Amino acid sequence: MYSDLPSVITWPLAATFGLIVGSFINVVVARLPGMLMMQWRREAREALALPQETDSDLPRVTLTTPRSRCPSCATPIAWHDNIPLLGYLKRRGRCAHCSEPISIQYPLIELASGALMLAVVMLNGLNGASVLLGIACLMLLTLALIDLRTQLLPDILTLPLLWLGLIYQLLFQPWLLESAVLGAVLGYLVLWGFYWVFKLITSKEGMGYGDFKLLAALGAWTGWEMLPLLLILSAGVGAVIGIIVQASIPKLRGQALPFGPFLAMAGWIMLLFGGYLMRFYQSLLLG
Ligand SMILES: [Zn+2]
Repeated sequence: MYSDLPSVITWPLAATFGLIVGSFINVVVARLPGMLMMQWRREAREALALPQETDSDLPRVTLTTPRSRCPSCATPIAWHDNIPLLGYLKRRGRCAHCSEPISIQYPLIELASGALMLAVVMLNGLNGASVLLGIACLMLLTLALIDLRTQLLPDILTLPLLWLGLIYQLLFQPWLLESAVLGAVLGYLVLWGFYWVFKLITSKEGMGYGDFKLLAALGAWTGWEMLPLLLILSAGVGAVIGIIVQASIPKLRGQALPFGPFLAMAGWIMLLFGGYLMRFYQSLLLG
């Protein structure tokens, strides 16, 4: 639909859009786990027939309220200091009020989001398919960050990612729909099987149900044929990063890393370069 726009317009547009959404992703990553925890508390108290906690016991946090504030002095951040990337550069990474340093994680996530959007539009142009691909890449970024921070992969993100994958196939590659449905089912079952075998042998839990749902979602986006490649990529990247992290940060030695971020990385590779990888993979299989 916009494919006749020159890349000199679409590329900066995509990167800017990514930076702005990255700023929102920072909010989601910081607040969504706490919001879900509050909801589970409410549901648990309801099931136990306990009186509900009042709003004064617990501060009310949503994705839009309260406004973004400094983590050190809690002063709300002015809109002109909250502009993605530029706000951080303008204040040289410090709060305008108390001058305490603000985590570099915020501009880095904005940059990652901008880079993902730019990559989607550079590789696919600006069209309906790349809009859905872009949403999927940003949902994976959000999931990876939440898993890193809290070891959670919320259903509220993994399940819509799966439905969106099926809709993407229906709209843009209907000939892959059958393979996508199988990809979702087998993606879940493969990790579910690993989980139980691992648990029966070691009586430990190697991963969580969120990981099964995330691989199911990726299977819907790539088709079942790509599941082995997704697992090889994520386990491979996970092993390399795991060895580096455990060798360089002694505190983390022997501790399990969350699997979600590596699944997300494999997902980005497949979503962005899946077409090229598919042809390479087929040539390997068919000789
Ligand atoms: Zn401050």
